[in-house]
Amino acid sequence: MTEPTASSGDIGPKSLPITTRSVNKSYGSVAALRDIDIDIRSGEFMTLLGPSGSGKTTLLMVLAGFTRPETGSVKFGNQEVIAKPPHERGIGMMFQNYALFPHMSVFSNIAYPLKIRKWSKTRIEAAVDDVLATVQLSGYQSRRISQLSGGQRQRIALARAIVFRPQILLMDEPLSALDKNLRETMQVELRSMHERLGLTTVLVTHDQREALTMSDRVAVLRGGEIAQIDSPSSLYNAPQTAFIADFIGESNLLTVSLRDGRAFYRDQVIEVAESTAGQGAGLLVMRPEKLEVGKVGERRSDRNHFDGTLERVLFQGESSLAFVRLSGGELVTVRRHLNEASQAALPSVGDQLSLSLHKSESRVVRDDRRL
Ligand code: ADP
Ligand code: MG
Repeated sequence: MTEPTASSGDIGPKSLPITTRSVNKSYGSVAALRDIDIDIRSGEFMTLLGPSGSGKTTLLMVLAGFTRPETGSVKFGNQEVIAKPPHERGIGMMFQNYALFPHMSVFSNIAYPLKIRKWSKTRIEAAVDDVLATVQLSGYQSRRISQLSGGQRQRIALARAIVFRPQILLMDEPLSALDKNLRETMQVELRSMHERLGLTTVLVTHDQREALTMSDRVAVLRGGEIAQIDSPSSLYNAPQTAFIADFIGESNLLTVSLRDGRAFYRDQVIEVAESTAGQGAGLLVMRPEKLEVGKVGERRSDRNHFDGTLERVLFQGESSLAFVRLSGGELVTVRRHLNEASQAALPSVGDQLSLSLHKSESRVVRDDRRL
């Protein structure tokens, strides 16, 4: 019998779907996870996003097998893994507290999980060569970790996580220690690596831009529950609640009243494309970059208009942020990308103007901000 090499080791499927049902985990009186049902597709890049304390790490630890929930099921493919310890789950992990051994060589660090699995010397050498090529660090076998840059260390940590060909990769804030430029470079690298390897990947981050950049879908957690799970563009363009609209990107939330299936701002009818609010009151989501500035009194049939006064303009490099006081007293921000035309067209501070939002982009959401 010949031993499979790392590169021809596709014995089982390359990736597996993950399914959880009714996962509950409490710490004393704190419900860290409440009835989590999540379906992650085979090969999908899923991000768990949420504020600090929302349960992201707890959920990832449940998937990894380090935390046992009080109730619930976790399946990888058709297999129930809830009772299995982490090392029997076949997962690759890249955690903040899962540091590399700094005094050891790149080779020894990457070979470590293979030695634990009692792979033969030749098979380990082939696998390490192979994975170093994957992370674009071929020839780095004998370097010390302490001789590598931050980005190179991240790539070695990733190499160690995937060297044994796991079917699932779990990462908890893997880039949070890097500075902004390197973090953005690594986001692109991790994403293209994911496209090449096709591993089912679950990433935890509190950085909404990182989540939007990297993921096929994002599950937003809040207080141990999944608030919304959607593609990045759906989360951004069609938030279901005020919490999501507020947490993902920038938004102005304008209180509107809802009567007889119609929305009103003061006495003015607002035509909305979608509403997740019931009767009574709701919040109109106005993304700063989707608002257009026009002349006071201007009315276009495909847009909802709001008259106001320009109070202040902040220069922010590629764009400017204007603050407009609406007739009802609300302060609304408008983002405008700066080019000669938009700069020339900007009214002066103190001028009356009309803001408008396309009717197809006018969404009203339920106010769940203070739940
Ligand atoms: P996140 O990763 O989203 O910041 P966590 O999953 O770490 O959130 O925590 C969720 C909640 O569970 C928080 O209220 C946190 O304080 C609590 N928690 C997490 N781990 C423990 C623990 N080992 N002991 C007690 N409480 C914990
Ligand atoms: Mg965490």
